[in-house]
Amino acid sequence: MKIRYFKGLFKTHSMRFISMEKVSGDYILVKMQAPYPIEWEAGQHGAFTLPGKKFKGRPYRAFSLASSPGEETLLIATRTGSTVSAFKQTMMKMQQGETIKMRGPFGWFVVQDDTSPIVMLAQGVGITPIRSLLYTLKDETSRPIHLIHSAKDFHLFSDEFKQLEQKNPEIKLTYVSDREEFKEALTAVASTYGSSAYYYVAGSFEAIRSIRSLLKGLKVKGKRIIYDPFFGY
Ligand SMILES: Cc1cc2nc3c(=O)[nH]c(=O)nc-3n(C[C@H](O)[C@H](O)[C@H](O)COP(=O)(O)OP(=O)(O)OC[C@H]3O[C@@H](n4cnc5c(N)ncnc54)[C@H](O)[C@@H]3O)c2cc1C
Repeated sequence: MKIRYFKGLFKTHSMRFISMEKVSGDYILVKMQAPYPIEWEAGQHGAFTLPGKKFKGRPYRAFSLASSPGEETLLIATRTGSTVSAFKQTMMKMQQGETIKMRGPFGWFVVQDDTSPIVMLAQGVGITPIRSLLYTLKDETSRPIHLIHSAKDFHLFSDEFKQLEQKNPEIKLTYVSDREEFKEALTAVASTYGSSAYYYVAGSFEAIRSIRSLLKGLKVKGKRIIYDPFFGY
């Protein structure tokens, strides 16, 4: 772990809440604006609190930033599930101009070097930090950039990603909806790149465990795999 990954850990920012949008099923997008430019790396996450709001339960949630450092608006995306937690209920009712606090961004889920092929593996809402990475890498044409996104019913951000794929021949997107399809797609990519690529894996703890064992079976070295486990799912 490098010290630079945790540079943001002791910084808190009062963000201006801009909007909440329901996209499909129980997926929501939340946009906010920082009061000044914030230094951070694509793929990192923050710990969010809702100052002045009273509700039961844990007062904070970790969310990856789905926006990239180049974008003006900060974006997070989440799923509410069928029983919406008090935190998310409160966040969804926020009005434009209210304050949402963020500690961070920080974390290790960042681009590791400038040359290795990139394989991004996302399960469900684990696509959030991947969006951030993909926008940061969108103009890189010197190495292959593969995304395999597994989700049952809805692939968040797939429409906008298609445009990135059309503009950059190195970007390849694969969408799958079950474990077997995922395994097939991953086997094809891992057989091509093996341990020469970095593999960026994001999703629930269970999903990470399962992908890790697939990658191990495909003989990918552990040091080439970067994980972003979404504890809490
Ligand atoms: C680094 C990181 C990045 C994340 N990024 C995102 C993101 O971009 N989008 C997103 O939707 N979510 C993300 N999460 C998960 C997020 O923080 C919430 O835990 C998740 O959204 C569920 O929140 P909730 O309010 O719906 O449910 P909650 O009310 O928090 O709880 C749902 C269930 O999970 C259990 N639980 C809660 N916290 C934990 C924990 N830490 N460990 C084990 N069990 C727990 C609860 O007991 C409950 O049964 C991230 C988590 C981490 C650690």
